[in-house]
Formats: sequence, C-alpha cells, structure tokens
Amino acid sequence: MPTYTYRCPVCGPFDLVRRMADAAAAADCPGCGRDGRRVFGAPALRGLDDGLRRALDAGERSADRPDVVGAVPGRSRRATPVTRDPRHAKLPRP
Ligand SMILES: [Zn+2]
Repeated sequence: MPTYTYRCPVCGPFDLVRRMADAAAAADCPGCGRDGRRVFGAPALRGLDDGLRRALDAGERSADRPDVVGAVPGRSRRATPVTRDPRHAKLPRP
C-alpha cells in the first residue's frame, strides 16, 4: 500500500500507509485525533536506480535552464576543409 502525507491543523504533517481507495478521505491525526487533510508533494523516487534518477534530474533542470551548446551535438569540432581550387566550385552541392 502507498504512503500518503496528511496535515493536521494543530500538529502538522504526518504520513499514513493506507489503501488508494481511502487516500482522498480525511485521516485521523495520530497525535490529537483531529481530521488531517491530504497534502500533495513530490513523488517518492527511492526505488529508481541511479542512472534513471540522474536522467530525470537532468531533464527537470533543463526544463527552465537548458544547456547552451557551441556546436551541433554529435558532430566533430573539426572545421570543414576549405579548398582554393576553382574547379571545386563547379562541383554539385548537397
Ligand atoms: Zn494533530
């Protein structure tokens, strides 16, 4: 069963393991017994392996701060060879 976070108006947040069908209902605070309302937060990503977690973090970071690149990724940085031979100017271009 998943763990949900609720907030008691007096005691603050508390976690509760309960069925998904019962997640929306108010939960009794373990400290004072008052009704606690569900709090929505970031999902727990404990079960992910490191590679997937890094990829998700990088994707999240790049959403508002994309990396600035100086060249098209995947191409070499070598300059295109330039020729001075006038016959090469008559060759077909891609
Ligand atoms: Zn309470």
